Amino acid sequence: MSADPVSSRRATAPFSYRLDARDGPARAGVFTTPHGDVPTPSFMPVGTLGTVKGLVMEEVAAAGARMVLANTYHLYLRPGHELVRSLGGLHAFMRWDGPILTDSGGYQVFSHAEIRQVRDDGVVFKSHLDGSSHMFTPELVVDIQRALGADVIMAFDECPPGGADHAHAREANRRTLAWLHRCRTRFDELKARGGYPAQTLFPIVQGNVHDDLRREHAGQVLEAGDWQGTAIGGLSVGEAKPDMWRTLELLDGALPADRPRYLMGVGYPDDLLEAIARGCDLFDCVAPTRNARHGTAWTSGEGQVNLKAARFREDTRPVDPGCDCGTCARYDRAYLRHLVVAGEWLAIRLLSVHNLRFMVRLAEEARARVGDGSFHSWSRAWLERYKQGETR
Ligand SMILES: [Zn+2]
Repeated sequence: MSADPVSSRRATAPFSYRLDARDGPARAGVFTTPHGDVPTPSFMPVGTLGTVKGLVMEEVAAAGARMVLANTYHLYLRPGHELVRSLGGLHAFMRWDGPILTDSGGYQVFSHAEIRQVRDDGVVFKSHLDGSSHMFTPELVVDIQRALGADVIMAFDECPPGGADHAHAREANRRTLAWLHRCRTRFDELKARGGYPAQTLFPIVQGNVHDDLRREHAGQVLEAGDWQGTAIGGLSVGEAKPDMWRTLELLDGALPADRPRYLMGVGYPDDLLEAIARGCDLFDCVAPTRNARHGTAWTSGEGQVNLKAARFREDTRPVDPGCDCGTCARYDRAYLRHLVVAGEWLAIRLLSVHNLRFMVRLAEEARARVGDGSFHSWSRAWLERYKQGETR
């Protein structure tokens, strides 16, 4: 095996974003990467450990997913980024030839790691697996992501919790900006050495729900480089929904229109539409597969349902009569309920197939609606039906 089998077969196509249509702040575009085009808005399934839990990548592709996410923190701890590199990089390792984005590990370190010390030079944490001690620096996080070889890699950031006060959020912004400069320096150094896959580095805008901090940080981040896209971090971390929507409206005016905006960790179907309505393009969340593990499925007419409910015992309809996934094509609620109640693995697989397709298709439909100028009326009606169904 050559030292760098991934880059040797990879085209050197540049990253680009084409904005095709707007409907108010909502946008439809195409994000081009070396591993293919991603029509936006787009929902990215999360393959934390290099696997979208329970599904083979052919099923992920069949759900219409174009770009998947994997996680730096988890893959660094297990199996280790150098092993992944030696096996040809993450695309080859997980058998996915489409675009991949790796999260920098900032969020995981701040949310999963047991003990941590946040310093200006990095974060000291204990592995959630075995308690071993580690330190993430901006440079190491870039090194790990270069080794994994994803198309889009993320800068290391400090992500304070939802209720962080102004002083805490301000300090996190300062550190995140300093780390961004260091990530960029490291990224440019490694790129200049060559022999690596074509990648682009996205910065993460923080600032919690403090308007002045969001505005200031967005300006500082954009000044720090000519980025191919920008990530919005620090939302969907426990803040109130109206604060999240207001923050997105503020950022819509602050971020460049000709680059994709990636809203990290969002979300559920209603959140997806609300965020698209405020100018976001890329989304990721573990909810489709996590909900499936809890026996939960999304429907357009009844909102989120749990298949354990007794009312599905003799229900011979598909999970969502309007869905075009393989689960809805072949199986009814009565059978799925039986599998969920019996704790069968197949329940998780079948519901994962459905939930993933549900989110991907919602983004696809939003894209079409932006294209024909009907997004806002369509999404309002969709949300109303979805929420009414939930309260029935
Ligand atoms: Zn379905």
